[in-house]
Amino acid sequence: MNVINVTSKNRQEAIEKIIALGGEGIVRCIQCGACASVCPLARTGFTLNCKKLIRLIQTGHWEEMIEDPSTWACVACNRCTEVCPRDVKPSEIIFAYRRFQAMELAISTSATMSQMNLYMKGHAVFSEAAQLRQKVGLPPLPPTTLSDEKALKEVQTLLENSPMAELGLF
Ligand code: SF4
Ligand code: SF4
Repeated sequence: MNVINVTSKNRQEAIEKIIALGGEGIVRCIQCGACASVCPLARTGFTLNCKKLIRLIQTGHWEEMIEDPSTWACVACNRCTEVCPRDVKPSEIIFAYRRFQAMELAISTSATMSQMNLYMKGHAVFSEAAQLRQKVGLPPLPPTTLSDEKALKEVQTLLENSPMAELGLF
């Protein structure tokens, strides 16, 4: 496994990049924890919540974040932003960190799977549910891109012409 050696210089450079990518509130976080008390990530069993993610970014503990799906599980509900007393806008920091990670570090396995699912199925999050659906009297496939070849083709065309195509995943 590659080890990331983080010096105070490249940690500072990373924070400046994350600020430039939209996470300017990172310097105002006082780790009060108000955001974590309302973040669905904490309630649904993810190991990291917005407060912890911000702390790991501030301290340059990226190795602990790269393969952790929490970073990519933020649903942009903005409950954190509503309660933050310092106008940090935690979700914007998380999104800025995602951009930083993709450009400077590595794409996580979970993010790679999501992009491939999106291309192959039209759903970033996908699980096989045909049997379960039939058990409750539903057709095996939902009326989405999973059963609409034309719509799926449109999604694929959009992705092929987006910057995501540069990742070489599809
Ligand atoms: S982002 Fe805001 S609410 Fe969350 S720990 Fe930092 S200061 Fe507190
Ligand atoms: S926007 Fe993201 S980080 Fe903020 S509360 Fe919602 S899931 Fe948590």
